Amino acid sequence: MKAVVYHEPRNYEVMEVPKPEVKCNQVLIKVYSCGICRTDAHIHEGDFISRFPLTPGHEFAGMIVEVGEHVADFKVGDRVTADNAVECGDCYYCKKDMPLFCENFYSLGCNGPGGFAEYVVVNENKVYHISDNLTFDQACFSEPLACAVHGMDVIDVHCGDDVLIFGSGPTGILLTQLIKNGGAANVVVCAPSQEKLDLIERDGYAKTIKMDKNDYSKHTKVLKEMFPKGFDIVVDATGNPRVLEQCFNFPKQAGKVIVYGVAASDDKITLSPYQIFNSELKVLGSFAQIHCFDRAVKYLESGIIKVDDLATHHFDLADFDKAMEQMLHGHGQLKIIVHPNKD
Ligand SMILES: [Zn+2]
Ligand SMILES: [Zn+2]
Repeated sequence: MKAVVYHEPRNYEVMEVPKPEVKCNQVLIKVYSCGICRTDAHIHEGDFISRFPLTPGHEFAGMIVEVGEHVADFKVGDRVTADNAVECGDCYYCKKDMPLFCENFYSLGCNGPGGFAEYVVVNENKVYHISDNLTFDQACFSEPLACAVHGMDVIDVHCGDDVLIFGSGPTGILLTQLIKNGGAANVVVCAPSQEKLDLIERDGYAKTIKMDKNDYSKHTKVLKEMFPKGFDIVVDATGNPRVLEQCFNFPKQAGKVIVYGVAASDDKITLSPYQIFNSELKVLGSFAQIHCFDRAVKYLESGIIKVDDLATHHFDLADFDKAMEQMLHGHGQLKIIVHPNKD
């Protein structure tokens, strides 16, 4: 089969590799849609938990073409998506019922073979049926949406909260939709791209304020005028350490600042310990997800979370270099979807 293979960071090609073998508890999925996200840009650089050689791709959906002999709940022809996160079940944190921190964390597309390939093999217990109403393009949002669902568990939005979100990437917009549906009174997105802010306003996800990347005082002034007391919750959905730093200008007393975007592993920020102490701020991290797929797929199936406007670019597997180029250096993209197979 054809697959993207990274031999080492930044060095990849689309090449012929053996089709994966299916163990007794696994299914083989023919991949129709696989999303690219910021995590793939970090993996491209050899960051995050990447291990090489690697076939990336952790946001995929497709059709089952083969099932292992002990697989009971799936059959050939089923339309599915899959949770790429695999916990070992055995380590200190798994036994502490904290599988997100599994010490042997295995993640398809991060340190194991993922969905930028014609086929991907997945353990049966990580596979989720999708209905005929959901397209594969919609279904491949289940992974970023699952991360946003986990974000909701971390953030714990209270009824009537005022929420400020920096960033208008796809995972930020998914989180914005969940927060809006999760009881917030005001949701404001601040980001530099007018095009994306227009989309957010048009689809009714949030109010928006344009961010001036060169002069933070401009959007700060507008936000302070609109919300003089600040916000109960301030989310960084950019992964940019400078943006995260200025998040601390906006929380109310005892407010929460959420580190939701993925920064580089060696990025640093400057904080005022006195502010955290005196305002009793809660600084919370939200990392990936585990066991959130069930809820994510339900949100997609119900249509409560809308993703159609987020899928902006499509590429064949053979053009993975163009897809990656768009991800790393392009403009105007939200979700880029790679199609290893076409029907
Ligand atoms: Zn992702
Ligand atoms: Zn474990």
